[in-house]
Amino acid sequence: MIHPDTPSGPVLVAGGAGYIGSHTVRTLQERGVPLVVLDDLSTGHAEAVDAPLVRADLGDREAVRAAFAEHRPRAVIHFAAKCYVGESVEKPALYYHENVTKTWCLLEEMRRAGVRDIVFSSTCATYGEPVEVPIPDDHRQLPINPYGRTKLHMEHMMGDYDRAYGLRFAALRYFNAAGAMPDGSLGEDHHPETHLIPLVLQVALGQRERILVFGEDYPTPDGTCVRDYIHVLDLADAHLRALARLQAGEPSFACNLGTGSGYSVREIVAAAREVTGHSIPAESAPRREGDPAVLVSGGRRAEELLGWKPERAHLATILEDAWSFHRRHPGGYGKPA
Ligand code: UDP
Repeated sequence: MIHPDTPSGPVLVAGGAGYIGSHTVRTLQERGVPLVVLDDLSTGHAEAVDAPLVRADLGDREAVRAAFAEHRPRAVIHFAAKCYVGESVEKPALYYHENVTKTWCLLEEMRRAGVRDIVFSSTCATYGEPVEVPIPDDHRQLPINPYGRTKLHMEHMMGDYDRAYGLRFAALRYFNAAGAMPDGSLGEDHHPETHLIPLVLQVALGQRERILVFGEDYPTPDGTCVRDYIHVLDLADAHLRALARLQAGEPSFACNLGTGSGYSVREIVAAAREVTGHSIPAESAPRREGDPAVLVSGGRRAEELLGWKPERAHLATILEDAWSFHRRHPGGYGKPA
């Protein structure tokens, strides 16, 4: 069994230089929680982290082992993963390696170092095509693409490590992460960018001519896909609460993290026009493969277990914060306005 009393050091944040990771790191710092970031900077940004950083790949067993030995972390928050549905269909080998194998490496180093608690990024993509919307926390999990399947494997792996070795995990199933640090100092910067809100804001910045609306024949009020956009700072807050719950000795759990409100693609574009004052031309395009019509979070488990409720749930707030980052970093990190 894993003996949790030994390590007493900082929280190790794997993937802490990425989008959700960097906001969680900032939140940990604001609340005075010691931490160390482990990130290979393959997709993360060094500029997004003002904290101790170990630059290493999770698959580099020696480097990760050395980081555990040096910092003796008390717990892990794990964001490091590949997260594009389309890419996962094209390159499943990459996704199984990056998400499943490297998570196994991380769990092995935790076991070796006697670290018991891990909070990690799961996703509503583990549900697949929902049979009930809003999607309850105990909805059946039947992912429809390799990305969702790798995340479900990660959940299952942790469940098995819990039963056999006493690992404690929190699987936080995010809906659509969005927004940014309100002062624009941190935000979403992916290359290539595929997410709706950053792309819409790039149109407002004049970096793209128009936004393509993928499918207008879905069984939704305006025919476009409906998603539940959750502010990245609300996600960060949930990670801290989940960690505190595990460290208090409570058992493993999984829960949804969303607002419970859905917005269509057309509604996002309209709201972004309001926030930016730009006309944001939109053009119909074919459906994108693998997009369910509606994904909206249901269930109250996060509130019941963590006392968590989104504080920045208004769509205008989410878009204004994202817009702050985009205006301040029009070319992404490293290229200030
Ligand atoms: N979307 C779109 N045009 C784009 C990018 C995304 O219409 O250029 C739609 C996409 O089909 C989905 C929604 O916007 O219905 C949110 O997509 P995103 O990639 O942001 O997140 P996902 O739901 O895939 O996690």
